[in-house]
Amino acid sequence: MIEVSCRLVRPRFVLDASFTAPNGCVALFGPSGSGKSTIVRLLAGLERPDRGRIVVDGRTLVDTEARIDVPVHKRRVGLVFQDGQLLPHLSVRQNLDYGRSFAPRDARGVPFDAVVDLLGIGHLLKARPATLSGGERQRVSIGRALLAAPRLLVMDEPLASLDAARKLEILPFIERLRDEWDLPIVYVSHAVEEVARLANTVVRLSEGRVVAEGPPNEVIGAPAGDAGEAAFPALSLVSAKVVHERPEFSVAILEHPAGEIVLPGSAFRVGETVRVAIAATNVALAVEEPHGLSVRTRLRGRIWRVEAGPGPSVHVTVELSGGDRIVASLTRLAVADLDLKEGREVFALVKTVAIDETAVATLRRDQAGPR
Ligand code: ATP
Repeated sequence: MIEVSCRLVRPRFVLDASFTAPNGCVALFGPSGSGKSTIVRLLAGLERPDRGRIVVDGRTLVDTEARIDVPVHKRRVGLVFQDGQLLPHLSVRQNLDYGRSFAPRDARGVPFDAVVDLLGIGHLLKARPATLSGGERQRVSIGRALLAAPRLLVMDEPLASLDAARKLEILPFIERLRDEWDLPIVYVSHAVEEVARLANTVVRLSEGRVVAEGPPNEVIGAPAGDAGEAAFPALSLVSAKVVHERPEFSVAILEHPAGEIVLPGSAFRVGETVRVAIAATNVALAVEEPHGLSVRTRLRGRIWRVEAGPGPSVHVTVELSGGDRIVASLTRLAVADLDLKEGREVFALVKTVAIDETAVATLRRDQAGPR
């Protein structure tokens, strides 16, 4: 369990944030300046709240009332930032050993080989950081943080400087860390797709306050609460089982009660349940089943809600047959022309190539639900 309840006043910014999350991956999500990095600094002990408490897995790191403030080097918080910050004159192995030197004497048991294996960096041990790709560098910095035997791993935009291919390379390692190491992770990101994929709990921040917290399907798809939040892209999470692999087309076919979903990529195996994040701007609606159309994913459902968005746009939420909701961002003109109203049966159309592969999570059996 991660409990944060902190107030910190700066000249032009007040952080007044409280959240409680079960172990797993907690994503701090919000626009620039909403206080994400400030919470990272408070967790790491780089800054102190004026008032508040931070408890991780039963260990109190800060409690201003009880005058507890565990110093940085005793917090056992592993930090991974956007730019790996490896020591350039040391080899990968020496950088990893450097991380290990921070592990307390009684906790030097994090096995080097297991970390190297987990992150797939065995072949890089002799290399210098300058000769690594951005993705490799980030894997080494995650390894270095793990070897210090942290009790909490805090990752502040760890993939922000990487291209889509490098992100896809690292995300599975973070998932393994979350699922196999049982290490609480606080993950900061602007990228809603990463958050949708990794988080068990999403804490949405706006102007220093927590405006929503909960599982990703409740928090990410929720409508924006106020003007400060309006910049969030609307996104839906849909879960379904892989029923066919079509490697010759580099796609996988999923079966959802509302219809087939065609996913890009060859990383998915028959029998797995995956959760796909779909941006509202990539969803179109049809009032009857279309024929002769290239769009492969056509999901049957009923309009649940129609909400005016900014400018010409309207968010139409469709309740899909068999569960899940999907949001389509349409023009007011289209809504008027097609007479789209609550209760009307429609087909939600999603172009496969518009689905961001970084936003597709393979769910563990206990997360997959009955379908
Ligand atoms: P980003 O996504 O851009 O990194 P963030 O959500 O992480 O943003 P913070 O870095 O936590 O936001 O910053 C929150 C606010 O605190 C901002 O208004 C910022 O200008 C201010 N701030 C950050 N660091 C300091 C500091 N050392 N002194 C004074 N104000 C600061």
